[in-house]
Amino acid sequence: MTTTQTDFGQFISGRIDAYVAWFVTWHRFVLLPIEDPAAALASLTPAEQNEAPATDNGLPTLDKLNQLEEQLRQTLRLVLMKAQPGQPIDRDDDAAVCGKYVEIMAELRRSERAFATAASELDPLTGLRRRNSLWNELVRELGRLTRTDRGFCVAMMDIDHFKQVNDTHGHDVGDMVLRAVADQITRSLRIHDDAFRMGGEEFLICLKEADLETGAIVLERLRRRLESNPIPLPKGGVLPVTASFGLVLATQDMDAETLVKRADEALYQAKKGGRNRIVAAKRK
Ligand code: GH3
Ligand code: MG
Ligand code: MG
Repeated sequence: MTTTQTDFGQFISGRIDAYVAWFVTWHRFVLLPIEDPAAALASLTPAEQNEAPATDNGLPTLDKLNQLEEQLRQTLRLVLMKAQPGQPIDRDDDAAVCGKYVEIMAELRRSERAFATAASELDPLTGLRRRNSLWNELVRELGRLTRTDRGFCVAMMDIDHFKQVNDTHGHDVGDMVLRAVADQITRSLRIHDDAFRMGGEEFLICLKEADLETGAIVLERLRRRLESNPIPLPKGGVLPVTASFGLVLATQDMDAETLVKRADEALYQAKKGGRNRIVAAKRK
């Protein structure tokens, strides 16, 4: 099942509300002598999170929260097993339970912040714009093209043999490479150009007010920059990274989907032609 960001946001805020209510109940048990510890345990044990959304789509995970909740359940079990009917809760035991509560609340807040980042327009890993904002941008640029006849180009870029990076050096180094490449993209573009992470190791670059020649010059700068700046590895040494590009000039007869499709086809030619190169789509 695919989790939407709304599902995740609602789950987290529901959980925060539930824990605030839980704390009020606990507080009552601490103030008043407990008549029936077993009943107290039943009413205080936080439910298992079977309603938790499965997190995919790059949303934050709930592993840490699950762990802390299990610790709270265990602490409560121990504390209430010790509790004598008619006696108040021991101070140290109260402190142990409250400590877990504080940790859970901190983790929920952290997840809430991570969710807000994930839900924003920016890709949390690379800081580039996410693909969901791409279509609006292309439609806007195509509209401008019709009104002003100012050309623009779109380039699809894909890191070469990236799977090998993960396979040889691990996913964390793969992520580091993605960040470093995104950084090089940002440095190579002109101030009004735009870059999007399409997913994985694929990026779309929108080169504003550029004909094919200008587009190719900008991309060539980026291609060379990548080629001549191998990425330093955490354990020493460097990792050479190159990318292939498919470039297309937008024309008034194209819609956004066609534009991206043509850039994709040109990228495929660049891969087929040996990688680490730019292929410009021929006018159809
Ligand atoms: P090619 O030169 O033909 O593009 O080969 P490639 O190995 O780059 O292409 P392929 O599509 O086979 O592999 C892409 C890899 O990207 C597979 C996947 O594990 C990895 N990947 C996708 N997203 C991420 C991510 O967010 N982080 C990391 N570390 N790896 C990712
Ligand atoms: Mg690739
Ligand atoms: Mg790819």
